Amino acid sequence: TERTLSIIKPDATNRNLTGKINAKFEEAGLRIVAQKRIQLTKAQAGQFYAVHAERPFFDELTDFMASAPVVVQVLEGEGAIAKNREVMGATNPADAAPGTIRAEFAESVGENSVHGSDAPDTAAEEIAFFFSGLELV
Ligand code: ATP
Ligand code: MG
Repeated sequence: TERTLSIIKPDATNRNLTGKINAKFEEAGLRIVAQKRIQLTKAQAGQFYAVHAERPFFDELTDFMASAPVVVQVLEGEGAIAKNREVMGATNPADAAPGTIRAEFAESVGENSVHGSDAPDTAAEEIAFFFSGLELV
């Protein structure tokens, strides 16, 4: 089985949607094997999203990610990385398939409710960014 890093973003925690989003993961066969609520500093958000440092939306993205608590979690299941991205839906909620998290809950391309790792190497890096070995069973 595979593991992936998921983040429930500030727009969703502000609207108290953690349980509804977690239900989508569980209905899709993903198991939440680690989870905690934290608040990132802008610098930590920038470190996490360093790959986007040169993008025009980087400043907006890191301000947003530091604006309120997030829920970081590790999801486990068969093909968890791809399955999570399927359940999340397209980055822009206007393009997200019906029934996906972003179609149902996201507010805009920036405030799009969830993050999910996009490949095995980034999943491993992103899990290690937030969780220690002791927190993972
Ligand atoms: P994530 O990495 O958060 O799971 P993603 O892989 O679907 O989302 P990326 O292209 O990696 O999308 O972009 C990272 C995040 O940056 C997006 O989820 C979104 O919050 C933000 N973002 C992307 N494009 C834009 C944009 N044009 N304007 C504002 N914010 C954007
Ligand atoms: Mg991405």
